[in-house]
Amino acid sequence: MSEASGPRFRSVLDRFAAYKPGRTVVAPDGRSFKLSSNESPYGPLPSVLTAIGEAAGRVNRYPDNNATALIEAISARFGVPAEHVAVGCGSVGVTQMLLEAVGEPDAEVLYAWRSFEAYPLLVALSGAVQVQVPLRDEAHDLTAMADAITERTRLVFVCNPNNPTGTVVRRAALEAFLDRVPADCLVILDEAYREYVRDDEVPDGLSVYADRPNVAVLRTFSKAYGLAGLRTGFMVAHPQVAEAVRKTMLPFTVNAVAQAAAIASLSAEGELLERVESTVKERERVVHTLRAQGWTVPPTEANFVWLRLGERTVDFSEACNAHGVSVRPFPGEGVRVSIGAPEENDAFLTVAAAFPHRG
Ligand code: PMP
Repeated sequence: MSEASGPRFRSVLDRFAAYKPGRTVVAPDGRSFKLSSNESPYGPLPSVLTAIGEAAGRVNRYPDNNATALIEAISARFGVPAEHVAVGCGSVGVTQMLLEAVGEPDAEVLYAWRSFEAYPLLVALSGAVQVQVPLRDEAHDLTAMADAITERTRLVFVCNPNNPTGTVVRRAALEAFLDRVPADCLVILDEAYREYVRDDEVPDGLSVYADRPNVAVLRTFSKAYGLAGLRTGFMVAHPQVAEAVRKTMLPFTVNAVAQAAAIASLSAEGELLERVESTVKERERVVHTLRAQGWTVPPTEANFVWLRLGERTVDFSEACNAHGVSVRPFPGEGVRVSIGAPEENDAFLTVAAAFPHRG
């Protein structure tokens, strides 16, 4: 018998911890406001619930592996050919599929940092090499990112708006950047928060990818469409990218209930986008109030705000938790706070107003 104490795992697993989702906290008085995961504060619409119920009645059968009806609905809604669309278990699932398609030991994957926490985790798992380029003034530094591209760079993430800072990349800067990316390097425009963008200078990835075969646009049903619990995201890209991604897909990756709910959400889009409009109004109110309280708040085009608190991050997050407000702390850096329903935002603003050290 060997001396080994148990199964051996890939050494890469020693280099990172499992993904930590946003927490839910409950105050001593029972109040709980979850502002830690950038979710929609609104429950599903009745028409979506009906579609969920109908699909649930058939779950003894596997879902449509090709998600044909969902892909056709996405194709019709966004005016893109169906063969340009691939779906996955959340946009994070599509990201994993893309990394499966390009990640190998020599490949470099480039992204701004800090950005979405799933990037380093998924890149590490793919076996590729991480190249992180620091944010500048809380936003992507696309010049530095272009400078960091080598002949081994196979994938670049551009998170627009960026999670967790809410900052954006504008059209001219993005086009100039894309002109510097070699044709054999894929660029993912991660537009998980696209529906919340109101700055006209922020390009819609769907108009960018059309002329660029190495650009893939990622969208999700988890945020504006309010289906985070069902895990559906999609990619729009040229057919050779979509085909490569489909090859890496886990069979039946988007479940039947999720497919039905996503289709129903596209049909009910008008109502859902009204909810987005309310969130955008709340965002303006939260940013305005925080600034009036003396906080420095970077401009945000997403459904969250970013407070750079440095060493005070954990104190601030604990102050929020004590009042039942869960936020997303990045110790030593700052706190990301989702925009929720008005009473949730009020609860957060009350804590922010009382916190002694502003910055
Ligand atoms: N991209 C970004 C930038 C995100 O913030 C998130 C969710 N936090 C995702 C992708 C993943 O979304 P989902 O997998 O739920 O579609």
